[in-house]
Amino acid sequence: MNEQILGLTAPLMAYVFSAVFVALWWRGRLGKHVLAFGAAYALFATGFLVTHILPTGSAYVFYATQAFYSASAILLIWGTCSRAGRPAFLGVNAAIYGVAFCALTAAVLLSNDAGPRLIILNAGYGAMFLVALVSLLGARRRSFIDTAILWIVALHTIDFMVRPMITVLAEGAIPVGDYRQSNYYSIINIVLMVKTLNTAIVLIGASIFDLMQAFRDRADTDGLTGLRNRTAFETAIAGPIANAAQAREQVSLVIVDIDHFKQVNDLWGHQAGDEVIASFAGLLQQMIRDDDIAGRIGGEEFCLLIRECSPLDTIRLADRIRMAFAQMIHPAIGENMRLTASFGVAHLRGRENYHELFGRADAALYRAKGGGRNRVESEDQANQAPAVMKCAAAA
Ligand code: GH3
Ligand code: MG
Ligand code: MG
Repeated sequence: MNEQILGLTAPLMAYVFSAVFVALWWRGRLGKHVLAFGAAYALFATGFLVTHILPTGSAYVFYATQAFYSASAILLIWGTCSRAGRPAFLGVNAAIYGVAFCALTAAVLLSNDAGPRLIILNAGYGAMFLVALVSLLGARRRSFIDTAILWIVALHTIDFMVRPMITVLAEGAIPVGDYRQSNYYSIINIVLMVKTLNTAIVLIGASIFDLMQAFRDRADTDGLTGLRNRTAFETAIAGPIANAAQAREQVSLVIVDIDHFKQVNDLWGHQAGDEVIASFAGLLQQMIRDDDIAGRIGGEEFCLLIRECSPLDTIRLADRIRMAFAQMIHPAIGENMRLTASFGVAHLRGRENYHELFGRADAALYRAKGGGRNRVESEDQANQAPAVMKCAAAA
């Protein structure tokens, strides 16, 4: 009786977890992998109930249970790999499944002992989880939650590979009809309950973590351009500026403002203006390096943090962006119209902070506007005034 009640605990818990995953996926608009976790838990629970409730000894019941378990394992593997952006190697898993299925059928036909069957099918699941583990280990970046998932997958792999061997060898033959009275069955009930619980806790934790990350990303991102908004930009550059000030690394700030933008709105409408802003942001992202940081700090104002680049090279970069934008075709305002932008550049000095640096870049931008627009001005340029830096090209 105790065995019967204990056996119901894991599937009932699994149904509850399945509902939690489906709710998280649906309400949190999370990726399909969360739905896969929900389906995996529902299939596992159903498979377990089938073995627990229907009479043992029937090959149909055995195969039906394994069909539910296999589908559940595949979905769990696919979900964890897909969440990490890693391949699930479903082809390899299908091959493992095929081999295990043939070996299992041979064991069912040749012996009435449940032992060999249990070893074969668990080894099959172990091999599938091992493939997932190898795939997950290949992920480039790993947060603490990714590491927790890695441990869970490793736990499944070890459990499937080691536990059946030990329990079956210790118990000796298990006649199929006596399976539910075996020690193996008592142990598996407890193991499954523990695995169901810790896997669900980690995966639900990961889904909540991803949900919070998505909220944070949405709050930090400018909807029109996909760049960081002002607050997120200032937060993102605080660290690099402080580090650069301490390590005396080269860092520059570039402020860009599209020229006469009000007229774009007035002449071609707000939507055309939006399209120009979005394509300008695309151009900025295309022309800076991965280590540089871009943000939209106002309506048609953008800011760039350029790292490990000399003052002269930063001015040259700004000028290349200026020229590329001046040549850009904007379908929303007509093939023959061209727009321009003005740039203010300042290079980090000593231990100054962001506000001082911003102030100098802004002053340079102000001069670029005053000097006729469509040009790059830099405070370093004003102080040192080498001819080569006078790269501004007023149209
Ligand atoms: P200047 O050359 O001196 O920079 O002239 P400007 O017309 O670009 O200057 P100003 O900063 O006065 O005008 C910016 C305009 O940008 C005003 C505002 O209506 C418009 N704007 C701000 N945000 C958006 C936006 O998200 N979409 C569109 N379409 N327009 C915007
Ligand atoms: Mg402006
Ligand atoms: Mg402007």
